[in-house]
Amino acid sequence: MTVWCERLVLDGVVHDRVRLTADATGATSGFITDASPAPGDLVLGTAVPGAANAHSHAFHRALRGRTHGDGGDFWTWRELMYRTASRLTPARYRSLAAAVFAEMLTAGYTAVGEFHYVHHQPGGTPYPHEMELAVAAAAADVGIRLTLLDTAYLAGGVGERLSAEQARFGDGSAEAYLRRWQELSTLIPGLGAAIHSVRAVSSTDIRTIVEGLPDDVPVHIHLSEQPKENEASLAAYGVTPTGLLAREGVLSTRVSVVHATHLTEDDVRELGGAGVSVVMCPTTEGDLGDGIGPARELLDAGATIAVGSDQNAVVDPLLEIRGLEIQDRLRSLRRGRFSMPELGTAMSAGGYRSLARRAPLSIGGLLDLVEIDTRSVRTIGAEPDQLLLCATAADVRRVVVGGRVAASAGRLADGRQPADMLAEALEEVAA
Ligand SMILES: [Zn+2]
Repeated sequence: MTVWCERLVLDGVVHDRVRLTADATGATSGFITDASPAPGDLVLGTAVPGAANAHSHAFHRALRGRTHGDGGDFWTWRELMYRTASRLTPARYRSLAAAVFAEMLTAGYTAVGEFHYVHHQPGGTPYPHEMELAVAAAAADVGIRLTLLDTAYLAGGVGERLSAEQARFGDGSAEAYLRRWQELSTLIPGLGAAIHSVRAVSSTDIRTIVEGLPDDVPVHIHLSEQPKENEASLAAYGVTPTGLLAREGVLSTRVSVVHATHLTEDDVRELGGAGVSVVMCPTTEGDLGDGIGPARELLDAGATIAVGSDQNAVVDPLLEIRGLEIQDRLRSLRRGRFSMPELGTAMSAGGYRSLARRAPLSIGGLLDLVEIDTRSVRTIGAEPDQLLLCATAADVRRVVVGGRVAASAGRLADGRQPADMLAEALEEVAA
């Protein structure tokens, strides 16, 4: 498979007339600039590497447009989210996840990390694996690369039992979680892992889980999204959530911390020093009034930055990237907080790394890329290396996964439209 691009903006650097070849696995095996297209090449205009959505809860999409206008805070939003979770069955989850993944793919996300915690039947009786297999089947159906981040969720708060609504998220113990994870890893290749948060998993269970997982498995965790979470950690353990992870010895390059909003300077040093990935979710953090995390400081300290759509109220990698930069401008009163190469890396290679994948379009990395319309009302006149700051998902044309067109002009390769899929799936969840 060979793809030719008139122009490729890779990690903020513009390359002209690029010819990319992929091997049978969809990995990049050749990268030549100033090349001419050959017969049979897939010919694209201006392209960027495929975007990674490093943090998603697909089912939260059911809350879009229903929870943003009536005040409240993160905790009142969470009550509404629990009500939706209680309505999920494997069949409904499969339809909804497929529709949301279709929306992601057509928006330019070629890979997704699904932070998945609705494991069991309401009340907690195991299925045992139907919910996880439903998510995997949804991604395969649509053609997006999935890293299923199978999540440990054991407590309702520090030292608290799970509530009735949370019962279906829980495995009972760290050992039971690991047993289920091991079984599932034989069914879903490339399975990832997650710890919901320091609220939902105790310090000893965090250590047991991280030590019990194979070394090459990516581990994600929600971290310091809300001040209340920090207060609970300080009260129970005498340290911040980051301090707790450091004390348990679990911070490393395979760990991704999600949000990292309310950090101390010591937290930033710990996370950067360990070389973790930090997944910022600007559109969600803004919607929920979480706050603005110190992304610039984390990058300077040694962390890798990635982005995620989290609650999927917005599914647009370009708006997440722009949110990352704009929020930091608002916080710092300065422009250009991230260079274009840094933003380009956060949208793609940073997120792929967080999902234990090599950078797309590097030799051996996946041949995943996205064609951007440079002549739309939003993008006409833009310098190619500044497209990320003016284009939106509406400017995404063809989406290429592993060298093949997976979506085009807002539709999947087989012609299905995400809006139709969503209409049907949302009806099923509401029924
Ligand atoms: Zn989340």
